[in-house]
Amino acid sequence: MTQTITVIRGDGIGPEIMDATLFILDKLGAGLQYEEADAGVAALEKHGDLMPKVTLDSIAKNKVALKSPLTTPVGGGFTSINVSLRRHFDLYANVRPVVSFPNTKSRYENIDMITVRENTEGAYISEGQEVSADGETAVSITRVTRKGSERVVRYAFELAKANGRKKVTAVHKANIIKSTSGLFLKVAREVAADYPEIEFQEMIVDNACMQLVMRPEQFDVVVTTNLFGDILSDLCAGLVGGLGLAPGANIGKDAAIFEAVHGTAPDIAGQGKANPVALLLAAVQMLEHLGQQDNAERLRKAIVATMDAKDSLTGDLGGTGSTMEFAKAIASRL
Ligand code: ATP
Ligand code: MG
Repeated sequence: MTQTITVIRGDGIGPEIMDATLFILDKLGAGLQYEEADAGVAALEKHGDLMPKVTLDSIAKNKVALKSPLTTPVGGGFTSINVSLRRHFDLYANVRPVVSFPNTKSRYENIDMITVRENTEGAYISEGQEVSADGETAVSITRVTRKGSERVVRYAFELAKANGRKKVTAVHKANIIKSTSGLFLKVAREVAADYPEIEFQEMIVDNACMQLVMRPEQFDVVVTTNLFGDILSDLCAGLVGGLGLAPGANIGKDAAIFEAVHGTAPDIAGQGKANPVALLLAAVQMLEHLGQQDNAERLRKAIVATMDAKDSLTGDLGGTGSTMEFAKAIASRL
């Protein structure tokens, strides 16, 4: 059975890492068909719109998109494309796996965890941001809902269950921020009761930061509110060697978008130097989402084996390979 996905080639190094990723997906025999759609600067030039309706329609129809990094022009009052995609499709869970890879400059060797960040509410709502006329006082509103908390915590538990993971840690600050963080924690406890086979742990966010840095191997799945998730997921990417190896998924009820966490890297764009692994790992997440667990595992193992052999690694990983040479080395190990 073939499945059509929307492919957004993106800006900067986007097209290069997408070419490499699609090349490998074809070798893998994932049976995917690609519907290309523009977004970002490429779309602004062609359609006069950073996120054209045809692109949104394509994602809505296919329900799954693989997306390279996009440039949101500074100034001109453009809303970040990622933020508008998140809003448009109500992509409520931001899912970021972090795994230790061989031959990276990371501090740890045995990390294998997933952070699940609530993506639609909390401190990121746009209403209620006020600075007083005299500029002396600023106020912002944080809103947490039962619905928003429930669906993201449930997603984290379902993810844990589907992947044979043992523990879900809810990270909060309910001791101080009793209203919003308190509601999130209360709902997390209720949802946890539906999953007696999975260990449930609660951790205050400051302690979670210390534990992540000192003993990251104790974590399995972490679920938390928007702002804490933003910070913790970058911390976790740093634990395994930085953004070049970090993928992320934005999951909603009706659509899911898979991407690399890093940006467009204009400094190396067009030079064949970009490391395609983050986008490839996003493709691994996508295959899992599509129910292709075997292909996902084959691809992940091929990436690990290539890094282990230091075969054609790109410059950021200490090698001299080009994006496409690295991709071919990975493809040869499928
Ligand atoms: P943007 O404005 O789109 O975020 P950026 O320059 O901030 O662009 P980042 O992705 O945040 O891009 O990159 C920060 C640094 O990491 C840059 O020096 C970039 O070259 C490097 N980098 C990012 N992604 C990769 C990659 N996939 N391969 C190699 N180097 C990368
Ligand atoms: Mg950046």
